[in-house]
Amino acid sequence: MKLTCYYKLYHFIERHRLKYRALQVARLLGLRYLVVRMDTNFLCNLRCPSCQFSADRISSMRQPAMSLDLFNKIAQDVFPRTRILILSCGAEPLMTRNFDEFLDRAGAYNLPFLGFVTNGMLLNEKHVEASIRNRVSEVIFSLDGATKETYEKHKAGGNFEQVLSNIKMLRSYRAKAKAKHPAIRFNYVLTRSNITEVCDFLKLAKSLGGSTVRFRHLTDWGAAMDFSKETLSASPELYNRYHDEARQLATELGIEALLPAPFDLSSHEGEKQVSGNDKKSAGHICIQPWAFLYVEPQGLCRPCFFVPPQGDLSKMTFSEYQSLPEMKERKQRLLHDVENSCLFKVCRMKITSSVNDDSNFLLSDAD
Ligand code: SF4
Repeated sequence: MKLTCYYKLYHFIERHRLKYRALQVARLLGLRYLVVRMDTNFLCNLRCPSCQFSADRISSMRQPAMSLDLFNKIAQDVFPRTRILILSCGAEPLMTRNFDEFLDRAGAYNLPFLGFVTNGMLLNEKHVEASIRNRVSEVIFSLDGATKETYEKHKAGGNFEQVLSNIKMLRSYRAKAKAKHPAIRFNYVLTRSNITEVCDFLKLAKSLGGSTVRFRHLTDWGAAMDFSKETLSASPELYNRYHDEARQLATELGIEALLPAPFDLSSHEGEKQVSGNDKKSAGHICIQPWAFLYVEPQGLCRPCFFVPPQGDLSKMTFSEYQSLPEMKERKQRLLHDVENSCLFKVCRMKITSSVNDDSNFLLSDAD
């Protein structure tokens, strides 16, 4: 019943393009509306087999780290309109030598939400102190296992004891400062090899002071992990069983568990995916080009990960980027000619999102 109401509300919002309209109103009123993800480097200290950084093509995409000067330029232009800033996207932010200084610069903008995603291995006192003094909202740790063996299999190059010790350090500095922030969140990529540990992971997360665990299905990045062997879409019953156990345990522990919806076992395809036609019939409108900005270390920027960089914030302003002919055309097509838009041509949301995961289509809280 609850799910039916959710879908009704969801389709009502989509049918009337309410999120899109709210976004335009916020923009015109000068309110903060933008979700920004920024990589200040393009490096990682680990080689997790599930991650795109273990794919061969990544080595050809290396680029120097962002300078503080470029960060300042982008910050002055973009942060006054930013609602959510996450200082990492695909890379490991703590590989940026002076990452604490980037936090200091970002902290000056009083952003409603400031966070970063890390594997936690390089977290040190400087990062923790900068996170506390700049009121970082959330530090998101990617762990993927509740035991040393599983963690180190999924986080190649990581050390279980070290990462737990670093997280405990953050928790203890936070307690010493009598600060509520940063909140501690965990990311957990679900595979056939670690699904049996989801309940133990919730207990571990709770013991480390975590408030949220976001579980995600494995994405096929062409990475080192054998996707067909490890994806749970091939074992839907297995996932559904652990989904129910994890949900119940999370309620008992008082920790938020963000789990992908159970697979639809009546469908031969396993998980019901959003196909292009589903999107069209549901009247979806992708608001990424208006609401989202991904910035690479040298300033190249794009509205999502499925299209190549469109602009260069080292050379142009955000408004100039938004007015580029390619961006204007993309937005026009998404609004008025959806069948010929990137949604139907290049978008991989239909592969990576389930019908219940609308966060990429609706303006939502930090993902
Ligand atoms: S490729 Fe997909 S996510 Fe990107 S702007 Fe187009 S529809 Fe949106």
